[in-house]
Amino acid sequence: SSRNFIPSIIIGVVGHVDHGKTTLVQALTGIWTARYSEELKRSMTIYLGYAQTSIFHCSNAEPPDSYVTSASSCGENAEPRYLKTVSFVDAPGHEILMSTMLSGASLMDAAIVVVAANEPCPQPQTREHVKALEILEIDQVVVVQNKVDVVSRENVMTNYRQIREFLESTRYSKAPIIPVSALHKANINAVAMAIAKLFKEPERILGKPAIMQIARSFDVNLPGTRPEKLVGGVVGGGLVRGEISVGDEVEIKPGARIETKGKVKYEPLVTEVVSIRYGDMESDVAKPGGLVAIGTKLDPSLTKNNRLVGQVLGHDVPDPVNDISIEYRMLDKVVGARELETPPQLKNRDKIILIVGTAPTIAVIQKISSDVMEVKTENPIVVFDKSKAAILAQVKGRWRLVGWGSVK
Ligand code: GDP
Ligand code: 5GP
Repeated sequence: SSRNFIPSIIIGVVGHVDHGKTTLVQALTGIWTARYSEELKRSMTIYLGYAQTSIFHCSNAEPPDSYVTSASSCGENAEPRYLKTVSFVDAPGHEILMSTMLSGASLMDAAIVVVAANEPCPQPQTREHVKALEILEIDQVVVVQNKVDVVSRENVMTNYRQIREFLESTRYSKAPIIPVSALHKANINAVAMAIAKLFKEPERILGKPAIMQIARSFDVNLPGTRPEKLVGGVVGGGLVRGEISVGDEVEIKPGARIETKGKVKYEPLVTEVVSIRYGDMESDVAKPGGLVAIGTKLDPSLTKNNRLVGQVLGHDVPDPVNDISIEYRMLDKVVGARELETPPQLKNRDKIILIVGTAPTIAVIQKISSDVMEVKTENPIVVFDKSKAAILAQVKGRWRLVGWGSVK
C-alpha cells in the first residue's frame, strides 16, 4: 500500500560547499534539489532542498550491491523486498548559509557527512557542520568520501586517514566512511545499505496534538491560473510529534505578519488541511519521519516564497514569544573559518543569531551570566518541549556558530 512509502526518517546531507551533497542526493533519489542561485544566497532566504527515496533488497545479489533505490534495479527473476523510505534534507555548505544549515539540522534524525577526497580534511564547513550535529545530538552519522574518481588510490587512502583522524576528535569516532563517486554513481549501493542497516527510526510520539516545523512554504499555482482554479497555500516541513490528517483544523504561529504605522504584529493563522503529500505521493495522514507538504485553504500569498519558514503548524501550538532565557555553553573554538578562533566574549546589547527549531532570528542580549542569557528576539518564535538553540555571533565580520543552549 502507498502507506508503506511514507518516509520513516529524515537524513541530513551536510558538508563543505562543492563536496558533492546535491550530486549524492541525486544519485540516491534521482532528484536534483539545489536551486541556490547567487541571488538567493545574497538574500539570505532559507532554502532547503529535499527529496525522498525507498530502499529495496534484491534476493539475487550480494551486499552491498543487493541494496537498491528502485525495485526494478533488481532485474528479472528477482524478488525485491521493500525495506524503508527516507527523506533527505540537503543543507547548503556555503559559509554564509550556516543559519540555513542549522535550520535544516533541527529536522534531522540522522546525517550523511559528505567529504570530497580531493581536498584536505577537514575543510571549515565540514568542521562546522559536524560541530552542529554534535550540538544537536544527532548520533546516527555516516561519512561519505566522495569524488574518489578524481584522485589516485594512494591519495584516497591518505584522505581516508585524514577523515578518520578528524572524526577521532568528535563524537563520531566510530562512524563508517564509505568511498563513492556520486557523479559516476559508483558504490552508491553501499550508501543505501548503510542507510538501511544503520539508521534507525527514533521512538515517535503519535496521536494528537501534532507539532510540525515549517521548512518551506509555497504558492503552487502557476502564473495566470484562473481564480476558481487556484489552490490554497502549501507548507512543507517535518512533524516533531503527533499526526495530522486531511480535514484537520490546524493553526500556524506566529502567523501572518501585519505592519501598521511602522508597528509589526503577528496574527495566528487557522486553516483546514485539504491535502497531504510525500514527494509525489498523496497520503491521508502525516506523521513524524519525513518531509511532508501540507495543502491548506490559506491564501497562497501568505505562503509564497518561503514566507512561513521557521513557523510552527499544529493542533495546539504554544504562543510565540520574544523574550527568552537560554541556558547556554560556548564552544571551545569557533571552527567555521580556516583559522580556529577563540569565541568572542558575549555581553549585554550584543546582537546574535539564534536558531530555535527551523527558525533563525536576530536577538539582542539583555542580560548574561556565564551560563544563562536573556535575549529579546527580533521576530517572535515558538518554543516547544525543551527547544534547543544554536547561537551564531559575528567573528571577524562573519556569522559563525559559537555556542548552543536550551530554551528555559
Ligand atoms: P554541493 O555544494 O556539496 O551540493 O556539491 P555539488 O553536488 O553541487 O557538486 C559540486 C561539483 O562537484 C559539481 O560540479 C559536481 O558535478 C561535482 N561532483 C560531485 N560529485 C562528484 C564525484 O563523485 N566525482 C567528480 N569528479 N565530481 C563530482
Ligand atoms: P511545486 O511548486 O514545485 O509544484 O510544489 C512545491 C511543493 O508543494 C512540492 O513539495 C509539492 O509536492 C507540494 N505540492 C504541490 N501541490 C500540492 C497540493 O495540491 N497539495 C499538497 N499537499 N502539496 C502540494
